[in-house]
Amino acid sequence: MEERLRQSEKLEAIGRLAGGVAHDFNNQLTGIVNGAEHLRAALAGQGELRAVADRIRDAALRSAGLTRQLLNFARKEPPRAVAVDVNQMVEDVLGLLPHAVDKRIAVRSALADGPARVTGDPDRLHAALLNLALNARDAMPQGGDLTVETRRVDLDAAACAALPFDLEPGPHVQVRVCDTGVGMSPEERAHLFEPFFTTKPVGQGSGLGLAEVYGTVQAHRGAVTVESAVGRGTCVALLLPLAAEQAAAAAAAPARAAAPEP
Ligand code: ADP
Repeated sequence: MEERLRQSEKLEAIGRLAGGVAHDFNNQLTGIVNGAEHLRAALAGQGELRAVADRIRDAALRSAGLTRQLLNFARKEPPRAVAVDVNQMVEDVLGLLPHAVDKRIAVRSALADGPARVTGDPDRLHAALLNLALNARDAMPQGGDLTVETRRVDLDAAACAALPFDLEPGPHVQVRVCDTGVGMSPEERAHLFEPFFTTKPVGQGSGLGLAEVYGTVQAHRGAVTVESAVGRGTCVALLLPLAAEQAAAAAAAPARAAAPEP
């Protein structure tokens, strides 16, 4: 537990530093993107030079995407508060996967009966889930099974205290993304949520995906847990508080309390 606390304090400190840098960097990038757009317009029809302006604009936009991920890791302010049906969001993300995953990967889902609504920012939650699904894909270069499950879990105080997040006891939606891929070593797991930690080849991984997931679940007063075994696979689970009106309905007809699966 102490080790986990140290880990979250460390991420907190990295977040403060990264957030400041990303914010200033983002302002500079806005200038570069705008300048490149001007150049592109002025250089229309001038083949080689216009292509240079295109490359400047594209590189600046890619960099802006990376700083957005870094800001999502560091941001502490409350996210947009819209009703999000997590089951529907999983369906949306799975709908994108056929274009993104190898045919040797079998994609399955097992969704909670009925809506599993949370209150939050649909774009950030969608990005988090897509990050997890794409990491699962990347972990299975030879193919395997990618499974996404949702369920409602009622967390008691003991279950919340065991997590390195400030989670309020009560009903939550759990989304688990599991793969049968390469898994992670304990050292990898220790650095997983740090910005720029990646084991992927240069150009293929930014190391910002899970940092962004971490920031997103924190901003939603949720948690993220990881279970992994080298050579066997990984399950990453998001825990998000059930939306208030659904929580009230659940309290009227309480479901069986369950510990969250990692
Ligand atoms: P990136 O995907 O750009 O490397 P992430 O922050 O999403 O950045 O992931 C960081 C690292 O965590 C990955 O490079 C990989 O080593 C490890 N990782 C993440 N998800 C998985 C997974 N499902 N299976 C195995 N390793 C993983």
